[in-house]
Amino acid sequence: MQRSTGEYKIKPIKKKVRELLGYPHPQRIPKGVFVEQWVGISTDEFHRAKDADVRYMKNVHPLIEMGWSRSDCVRYLTSRALADTPKSSCLGCPFHGNAQWRHIRDTSPAEWQDVVAFDAAIRKGNARANAAGNKLLGQAFLHRSRVPLSEAPIDHVTAAEWAAMQQELTNTEPALEELEQGVIDGCSPWACRGEVAPVQDDFGLAS
Ligand code: SF4
Repeated sequence: MQRSTGEYKIKPIKKKVRELLGYPHPQRIPKGVFVEQWVGISTDEFHRAKDADVRYMKNVHPLIEMGWSRSDCVRYLTSRALADTPKSSCLGCPFHGNAQWRHIRDTSPAEWQDVVAFDAAIRKGNARANAAGNKLLGQAFLHRSRVPLSEAPIDHVTAAEWAAMQQELTNTEPALEELEQGVIDGCSPWACRGEVAPVQDDFGLAS
């Protein structure tokens, strides 16, 4: 989602890059001084490869240069005994499937607390947008069920989730896969897969 990309990814990256270059904000970075940033977009997703929006960062896409698709990457990782490498994404991504939420809950209690707190914090939308008069009309949730993450049904797919998914998709196989594993695409600050808000209940009701 665009706001998370700008606020939580690109901003901190730019801050760190400026630090590394020795020109922290608001110092002017001389022309010709830049970092090269490698972004792992595969050929299946070449349309998501983007340039950075500042001249002190230059994006390079090695997988596209090598002509590697997602399957090539999986084949390579498997050959190195790294077949279970997870796709990249933010910790609190609303596109996670139940498997990803369970993985955080079951393997990293501190990160789970973090995402639960983040989910609660976004319920009424973005504080800055609200203050600027762009109030969220409903409520925002990280989990598709529109239930607070701490109580969300991440151990199984509910009938309501299944029905909602069926309205969006016609093929049942990918639907189930997506509820469990999340959307297939990975994500990067420069190639965000979702320029949409978290799951929102426009009527302000949690179903
Ligand atoms: S992984 Fe991408 S879509 Fe998900 S929260 Fe992060 S930037 Fe947004």
